[in-house]
Amino acid sequence: MKCNYCERRCELGDGNYGVCRMYREEGGAVRERFPRRWSTYAVSRIESLPFYHAYPGSRSMTIGTAGCNLECRYCANAFVAREDPAAVQDAMYDFTPAQLVRMAAKLGCHNIVFTVNEPTVSLPSLLELGAESRKAGMPLGCLTNAYATEEATDLLAEVFSFVNVSLKGLSRAFCRQYLGIPNAGPVLRNIKRLAATTHVEVTTPVIQSVNDGDIDPIAEFLADVGQGIPWHVFRLLPEYRMKYAAYPHIAAIDAALEKHRRTLPYIYFHNFVGSEWVNTLCPHCGATVIERFSLGCGGDRLDRYHCRGDACPECGYRIAIHGQRVAWNAKEGTE
Ligand code: SF4
Repeated sequence: MKCNYCERRCELGDGNYGVCRMYREEGGAVRERFPRRWSTYAVSRIESLPFYHAYPGSRSMTIGTAGCNLECRYCANAFVAREDPAAVQDAMYDFTPAQLVRMAAKLGCHNIVFTVNEPTVSLPSLLELGAESRKAGMPLGCLTNAYATEEATDLLAEVFSFVNVSLKGLSRAFCRQYLGIPNAGPVLRNIKRLAATTHVEVTTPVIQSVNDGDIDPIAEFLADVGQGIPWHVFRLLPEYRMKYAAYPHIAAIDAALEKHRRTLPYIYFHNFVGSEWVNTLCPHCGATVIERFSLGCGGDRLDRYHCRGDACPECGYRIAIHGQRVAWNAKEGTE
């Protein structure tokens, strides 16, 4: 039978577990092979994940499972996303969704974010986690490649109230050669679908001389989806099969982004120490409304939050923020 969780639409059965190796066929239904098994749980600043416009300053508990439906040549989490999920089970944690939610609360986290691999490959467990976190009033977010089917995308939107989609590139050659998929059409469709109901940020990992030519068309696509969409242009330091590739050139990428800042006011450029492009400016009056630090390699953090609620303190323009600003030590109410 076919698995319809993602656009791979793999045929399951006879020992075939799909490209992600996370599903099996049983009694005419698609089942998870490793339900409620987690590869990690850790505490992180939400800005590091990155989410810049959701619950600014908050403490997130990050989780993941194993396996992935894409085959990115530069994957930074290949040790768990590209390995055979059966081979890493000894290192996995066994927690019920209710236990995960309790642990997040105990660790002082305001929300839980699925970050390590692709949530589509563990959707039934995440639907259970969604039900538990809703009961506890704990928001759930995720990073996703959005190569899901439309039905699965609606399930993602049901579980997660804030989502960061990795829009890796647009050209067919790039998709085939570097991601192992025929094209990015489903990803573009799903960004629009998610943005209609959910808080969406988008990340594009830029690889020097590989997908930097897609900056213009991606910017145009996002401006069309909505000018309030935050776009993280991420200076990718390739890993896995591309670990000897050149690091992207900061000045060249900044120059390529400059002309799009008028149509997309929330463009960020980071993953290197001391980036100047991590603050939020008011699209109306230009005041700096949120200041952040970038320490590189996912080490971003909130510095100062000048908004009043979600409004610019100078002109009152509403900044696109999902949820409220949350103190890192929310329990104590301090930074
Ligand atoms: S989720 Fe996994 S098994 Fe299902 S279609 Fe996608 S790659 Fe195949």
